[in-house]
Amino acid sequence: MRKLVLFLCILLPISALPINISVRIYSTDYVKTVIIAPKTGKYLLLGDGKSIDSVTDASVYEIKVENNLLSIKTLNRALGKYTSIRLKELTTDCGFNIKPVSEKSTRLYNDDIVLTSLNGYLKMLNIVQFEHYLAGVVECEAGQRRPLEFYKAQAVICRTYALNNIARHLGEDYELCDIVHCQVYRGTADVPEILQAVESTKGLVIVDNARHLINAAYHSNCGGFTVNSEDVWSTSLPYLRAVRDTFCLNQLHATWEKHFSVNDWMNYLEKKEGSLKKTDTRGEAYWDSIPGQKKVFYYDNGYLIPLKEMRIELGLHSTFFTMEKKGEEIILRGRGNGHRVGFCQEGAIHMAQRGYGYLQLLHFYYSGIQLIDSSTLPIAPVSN
Ligand SMILES: [Zn+2]
Ligand SMILES: [Zn+2]
Repeated sequence: MRKLVLFLCILLPISALPINISVRIYSTDYVKTVIIAPKTGKYLLLGDGKSIDSVTDASVYEIKVENNLLSIKTLNRALGKYTSIRLKELTTDCGFNIKPVSEKSTRLYNDDIVLTSLNGYLKMLNIVQFEHYLAGVVECEAGQRRPLEFYKAQAVICRTYALNNIARHLGEDYELCDIVHCQVYRGTADVPEILQAVESTKGLVIVDNARHLINAAYHSNCGGFTVNSEDVWSTSLPYLRAVRDTFCLNQLHATWEKHFSVNDWMNYLEKKEGSLKKTDTRGEAYWDSIPGQKKVFYYDNGYLIPLKEMRIELGLHSTFFTMEKKGEEIILRGRGNGHRVGFCQEGAIHMAQRGYGYLQLLHFYYSGIQLIDSSTLPIAPVSN
């Protein structure tokens, strides 16, 4: 039987996109109590699979973890205790508001929510139409008041990224989380241009020459040069090549500066020294042929510090910087913001402002790629 299923799966193309996906929301927050209010559409409220209240536009529910069960009440009525509670949509225009009591802001999500308890806290899954999810991601990752062509490029990138990472949480009963790990998602998008961009690029994804989804890496600002994937990660990917980018040079995150006292700086270097490699090849190690692509920082005793480590440990915006000692201060002057691999968002925004279309944006930052409809992709491998 399994062979037959596998055979059918190989023959059948994947249906364009997953219709619904399961996204864990508030995935890194420890939430014990939430307030949920259905806002649009018609919902059923299920406790362990059975209807437990007739939901109206005015319904407001408080759901709390108590001894690994969920207790639910309206403003004036207790509705019982359950292992799982689901707000299930009956119409296609459903949306609900949610607010953990420990937080100030309310968020709006489309479609369903399933709540269970996990280690004494709420585990909340938004079962959401893929394209609703995608619009929400584009709003978080691309920001507001951007040109439409930029939003279209970002929609194709975020769609590709999500599909490429759809198995990241395999074994955890959901597909994606809502933080940077799987792309940031904080609910429904309400920027009309974003909804338009998602709709007008529907199904489009980026593939390489072998028709595999690419690792659609993106970052805020490359500082004038993007970098090869192997300069940041271990794998060399043919579509993640360094490109010279003049479009981002005068944008918000093009440059940065960070000051340290000589004392703090020396403490940092000395603390690092034990774990470092020593070298005699100072010149070679310090500069690569393309500015901004050096991987290591050299300091006087002949030690090399991987720049990736420095960026994290010192909270630097990028690994593309120079150093100057001025009196009792060390000044790092840098360019760019982020890992600098792939699509440079601020450069792409500027390209779109100058009249370039979204395909030109994507082909500028990703080398040798193609855009295809995801319905033509082979189905993902079947796991046992
Ligand atoms: Zn994740
Ligand atoms: Zn750039």
